[in-house]
Amino acid sequence: LPQEFELARPVLQTIEQAGYEAYFVGGSVRDTILGKTIHDVDIATSAYPNEIKSLFKRTVDTGIEHGTVMILDHGTGYETTTFRSESTYTDFRRPDQVTFVRSLTEDLKRRDFTINALAMRENGEIIDLFDGLADLQNKQIRAVGNAQERFHEDALRMMRAVRFASQLDFTIVPDTLAAITAHAQLLAKIAVERTQVELIKLLMGQTPQRGLTDMLTTGLWQYCPDFAAHEPALQSLADRLTQGVSSETAVWTLLTTQFALSPAAVTPFMKHWKTSNQMINAVQTTSKTATLLAQGDLDDWHLYQCGRELISEANEVAVVLGAPDRLTSLTDRLAALPIQRKKELAITGRDLMQAGIQPGPQLGAILEDLEYRVVTGAVANEKSALVAQATQS
Ligand code: ATP
Ligand code: MG
Repeated sequence: LPQEFELARPVLQTIEQAGYEAYFVGGSVRDTILGKTIHDVDIATSAYPNEIKSLFKRTVDTGIEHGTVMILDHGTGYETTTFRSESTYTDFRRPDQVTFVRSLTEDLKRRDFTINALAMRENGEIIDLFDGLADLQNKQIRAVGNAQERFHEDALRMMRAVRFASQLDFTIVPDTLAAITAHAQLLAKIAVERTQVELIKLLMGQTPQRGLTDMLTTGLWQYCPDFAAHEPALQSLADRLTQGVSSETAVWTLLTTQFALSPAAVTPFMKHWKTSNQMINAVQTTSKTATLLAQGDLDDWHLYQCGRELISEANEVAVVLGAPDRLTSLTDRLAALPIQRKKELAITGRDLMQAGIQPGPQLGAILEDLEYRVVTGAVANEKSALVAQATQS
């Protein structure tokens, strides 16, 4: 067993010694069998949250209303969730109520896909009620139980299916794929933030071609914000994107450039996806830079404006758009510029005012003009030269 499980064994043993059942569940079990590195180890138990809390010194109520308590042990947190059965859904998302149960079987039944419905005992023994091991072996994504019902209960599962297809390089079985096609429109009921998480994971996955193709064939793409006008662009991405991009910034840069959005169109697009303002600002820059790189080369001013932090993302997306990989030469060029960022400019607004320039909007414009001249090598980055330049114009 991987180290992560070995470290967590005493936690399961403590719960079991108190007379309850406890298992490792979810992605960590799946990924261990696949031989992938695991991130977080999740636990499912027959003990109720208050029972768990009485067994451990340090716990955090991370989702007590859903039955989740985090157990802190040797500096690691274990999300521990009481067995649940989710029965009544009225709005195609989250269950109306969570019912705690004492049966593992009930808990595994409510899970989305067979590969995610495996449980593992403390000694490594696997409990496989839905032939999840066979599906893992055959690289298949299959809904637990009746696929139609499962997507009707929770429409986010459809995005999870296409996301796992990309992350794991798995095929969605025909019956499950057909159920997604039948229920795709229910994705519109899901909070955009939750769809966003899955889309990002899809585009950062191992085989985004798969996930994108599944989104196109099932119609899921139509229920993603602002995707409606971009079917050909999505199709061409599905044909060409042979590996996932490396970051969330790269995901949005990829979409905005692939959709050929103008700078003015980037912000509303991203707002509809409910991304952060910080992300919008970054993508305004990377998107412009990637487009320029795809069209030809980048002048020093645009290179400087993009900066070291974002140039690799812009270059990465330009490569997807068909440009050569120029990361080394771009970073070398950036490093050779007279300044790397605005605060390295040898003059400030205060200096300009001391030189007799009135405060106001034109002061900012003069500073930016000086910055441009320094970056492009027209003026040396020295205070006297800059003051002379500013006062002559
Ligand atoms: P990841 O590697 O992305 O964390 P994961 O499978 O662990 O993948 P989580 O979102 O962490 O995914 O969920 C943990 C487990 O909870 C899943 O493996 C699955 O059993 C169950 N699960 C999560 N979301 C749903 C859902 N919408 N419907 C049913 N079961 C779900
Ligand atoms: Mg997980």
